[in-house]
Amino acid sequence: MKIERYVKSPSIEAAFASLHEGTNNKIIAGGAWLKLTDPTIDTAIDLSLLNLDFITDNGKEIEIGAMTTLHTLGRNAILNKIYDGILSRAAMQIMGITVRNIATIGGCIMGKFGFSDILTPLVAMDALLIFHQHDKMTVVEFLNTKENIRDILVKVVIRKANTRGYFRKIALTHLDFAVLNTAVSRNGSEFRIVFGSRPGVSTRAYKAENFLKEQIKIDEDVMNKAVEIAAAECQFGSNQRGSAEYRQSLAKVYAKRGIKAVTTNEN
Ligand SMILES: Cc1cc2nc3c(=O)[nH]c(=O)nc-3n(C[C@H](O)[C@H](O)[C@H](O)COP(=O)(O)OP(=O)(O)OC[C@H]3O[C@@H](n4cnc5c(N)ncnc54)[C@H](O)[C@@H]3O)c2cc1C
Repeated sequence: MKIERYVKSPSIEAAFASLHEGTNNKIIAGGAWLKLTDPTIDTAIDLSLLNLDFITDNGKEIEIGAMTTLHTLGRNAILNKIYDGILSRAAMQIMGITVRNIATIGGCIMGKFGFSDILTPLVAMDALLIFHQHDKMTVVEFLNTKENIRDILVKVVIRKANTRGYFRKIALTHLDFAVLNTAVSRNGSEFRIVFGSRPGVSTRAYKAENFLKEQIKIDEDVMNKAVEIAAAECQFGSNQRGSAEYRQSLAKVYAKRGIKAVTTNEN
């Protein structure tokens, strides 16, 4: 990566203005991924002076600043509890501490990486993205929009509720990208079933979620039917880490374990 000009923005307004001064200007967060990809950046806009490294709990919501590192997410006591700690769990399974101390939640989201372990639990938690100028949107809306959002992600908001969660990363080795990620969450009768690293970006199994919502009792038969629906409605692809068929089989197994975990105490 070659950077022509590097600025440490003193304010979010200045960072936003720098971003819009040129089409080849880029926000730099941890820089961990950017360093491996972009050949030349005219102006790299460093956000490290903007105090965006925070996790706060206002009683109703948890707010996570965009510059919060993966290691902080993994170690935070609040995030270790909410949704049974699925965001912390996902963060702590990414690479080693050297990468986790650099990579940020903002970089994980704004990269829209198909392999992302962080996006899968964020979709399961229906997290909200707050930008400097752009309207707020859920992570799912962000992943589905075709719009190129040239803005600064300021924070991620997770609404607190009486929720359960499950997350598993299936990878060939600890340091590898996932073959498949699965997250399941439950808030009363509302379920979310999410698959990531399919190898496409995280997606919800809406039909399976609706099927579960209609059931009076979640027994073995219901779970088996739900995971068949989920695996059929979501698309899985093949790459060097696994075939589409293998991913689909994994999806059924881990979604069932997830539904069981959030309806019982088996987590
Ligand atoms: C060797 C290696 C292995 C990895 N393995 C995994 C893995 O197994 N699983 C996994 O999930 N992830 C993995 N990652 C990715 C990592 O988790 C981060 O997603 C990645 O490093 C991006 O975070 P960053 O803070 O470094 O962002 P950067 O590289 O600085 O930025 C990434 C993108 O986001 C934009 N951006 C960053 N912050 C903002 C903001 N606040 N507002 C607007 N735009 C912004 C940048 O302009 C850029 O386009 C790996 C990374 C590396 C380097």
